[in-house]
Amino acid sequence: MMALLNADLHCHSTVSDGTLEPEQLAARAKANGVELWALTDHDEVGGQHRARAAAQALGLPYLCGVEISVTFAGLTVHIVGLGIDPDDPQLLQGLARTRGGREQRAREMAEQLAAVGIPGAFEGALKYVGNPQLISRTHFARYLVETGVCHDTHEVFRRFLTEGKPGFVEHRWAALGDAVRWIRDAGGVAVIAHPARYAHPSPTHEYALFEEFKAHGGQAVEVVTGSHSSAEIVRYAELAREFGLAASRGSDFHSPEESHCDLGALPWLDGRLTPVWELLAHRIVH
Ligand code: AMP
Ligand code: MN
Ligand code: MN
Ligand code: MN
Repeated sequence: MMALLNADLHCHSTVSDGTLEPEQLAARAKANGVELWALTDHDEVGGQHRARAAAQALGLPYLCGVEISVTFAGLTVHIVGLGIDPDDPQLLQGLARTRGGREQRAREMAEQLAAVGIPGAFEGALKYVGNPQLISRTHFARYLVETGVCHDTHEVFRRFLTEGKPGFVEHRWAALGDAVRWIRDAGGVAVIAHPARYAHPSPTHEYALFEEFKAHGGQAVEVVTGSHSSAEIVRYAELAREFGLAASRGSDFHSPEESHCDLGALPWLDGRLTPVWELLAHRIVH
């Protein structure tokens, strides 16, 4: 297998904060020409059996996946796990622990929003939640668009749901070393998700993330992802080579209405990089 493979190894279903069911995503991936697919819901593997079965029925090669929320040196970072065993007990327990606290956090977000004149946001967000254990900022964003407070979800994040804004609640997620260990022990490869999206307080903070990730056994980084500009793709291709990490490719697709990048509609991976699927050939389900 080589770099010119239409792999899409990052997306979300109704099991986390996407709007399509795992089966709908599988069909959409297939229709868009995806050749290797992974569903990577936030902190949850509840959709893996459905996604894998749907992919198999379509003849679409599949890797089980997850996207774990991590707190690294004060910053929220996402670590994707690919090729995991979705029934691994340690992984399941770690994810359950990571999800815990989301409801309390959501109640606090709603209180803060009420204080700035937006009442009922907890109940409003819940209407969009497919999995009661996984209420996320995305669900609040959909409610604030529905009520006309904002035009689109990006505006909601900008005005309300990011650090320093009136609906933002600091939260402590999994430790980096734990997330990488859960993924590896479940037979998977750990991947730093959308690396250009983190507001590192300094360049050394980003280097520390890459170094500690590697030291814990992390093996890859998303070079091509829906939110990366072409300059960011080049920058993270260089960092991948510098740190000896394999490269991943994934749209981070959430919804036909909200996502800029559709499943499989991504630039190719640079042929000089090691594609993460080279490390995962034995984990692909055909
Ligand atoms: P949470 O895990 O509850 O903190 O929610 C994180 C999710 O919010 C991400 O996975 C994205 O789906 C979404 N998100 C974060 N930032 C933005 C943004 N600026 N615009 C739109 N969606 C965002
Ligand atoms: Mn999301
Ligand atoms: Mn993410
Ligand atoms: Mn994601």
